[in-house]
Amino acid sequence: MPHVKLHIPGPVEVSQKTFKAFCSPMIGHRGQGFKDLYAKIQPQLQQLLFTKQLVYLSTSSAWGVMEGAVRNVVHKKVLNCMCGAFSDKWFDVSKKCGKEAEALQVPWGSPIRAEQIDARLATGQFDALTLIHNETSTGVMSPLEEIAALKKKYPDVMFIVDAVSSMSAIKIEFDRLDIDVLLAGTQKAFAMPPGLAVFVCSPAALAKAAQTKDRGYYFDFVEFQKNAEQSMTPSTPSIGHVYALASKLEDFFAEGLDARFARHKKLSQMTRDWAAGHGFNFFPEKGYESVTLTCINNGAKPGGTVMDVAKLQKSVKDQGFLIDGGYGKIKGTTFRLSNMGDETEATMRELYTALDKGLKSQ
Ligand SMILES: *Cc1c(COP(=O)(O)O)cnc(C)c1O
Repeated sequence: MPHVKLHIPGPVEVSQKTFKAFCSPMIGHRGQGFKDLYAKIQPQLQQLLFTKQLVYLSTSSAWGVMEGAVRNVVHKKVLNCMCGAFSDKWFDVSKKCGKEAEALQVPWGSPIRAEQIDARLATGQFDALTLIHNETSTGVMSPLEEIAALKKKYPDVMFIVDAVSSMSAIKIEFDRLDIDVLLAGTQKAFAMPPGLAVFVCSPAALAKAAQTKDRGYYFDFVEFQKNAEQSMTPSTPSIGHVYALASKLEDFFAEGLDARFARHKKLSQMTRDWAAGHGFNFFPEKGYESVTLTCINNGAKPGGTVMDVAKLQKSVKDQGFLIDGGYGKIKGTTFRLSNMGDETEATMRELYTALDKGLKSQ
């Protein structure tokens, strides 16, 4: 079967270099070889996340750590900020973990605003909140800086941030922002195969986790810290992923982090320009558009071009590209184009050319 290049917002296209690293010969996870590998990438991960904390590697999808965060640091009640499919689900996950949880729901397409969180935290009921920085289902990026600034007012509230589709594509300064848990899966902006999550915890989050009795084992943050101090993981990790991550970090630093951040910003702007040029408008509220994917409105809001998304998808697929036809309840009334990972201006133009052709054949 000929390969169809992924322009869906995760998993995204994986380079041959990354696959080659992924297929490195196996080593033991308690041996010096693995410790050397993890120790080599640890400072790069810390640089990427602007932190002095140890960065952990979890062999799981992002949801493992999202659930783990709730299990480790929520004692009283968690405020789940909800603005799309992933953030909405986190509320259900909190309840399934047996936690007291409250929904801060805004309409899909809107961001979460700091003042909305402030009003809820002011009740004093909460000791944690969950926030999705870049809501992949709607293409909305919430204002992380403004929200994180609330931490000064509520120092005892644990700020749990999912940066699954934004980590490594935009600067997130973990230590300066005073976030407590920051996590991502590697199949999104890292452009790696699915199956590994990267996360970091504040000292306060670790101290709180240590006091949590029913935090479980597989996602016990205290175990992650203890093991990371020895350049190890609590259980046998997907070692191929760690090799792939080392290769990816090599790519990030060869390009330079600032250049990488600028590239994602530029490519998302190019995609919006392409869409606007065809009379489309956008699902996210203006000013809160993601830098890693574009969620294009196709009738979910009044005005703008409307067409047959399934037909467009098929035409583009026949030309070798996979695009997304909208997530969950906005399937068909939106569609999404990803520019995350290794994309360049040239590769994005190839996608626009295929889309142009697809639109002509509507
Ligand atoms: C993809 C995604 C998830 C879920 O990730 P899995 O790797 O499937 O667990 C969670 N949050 C966001 C923002 C995502 O984009």
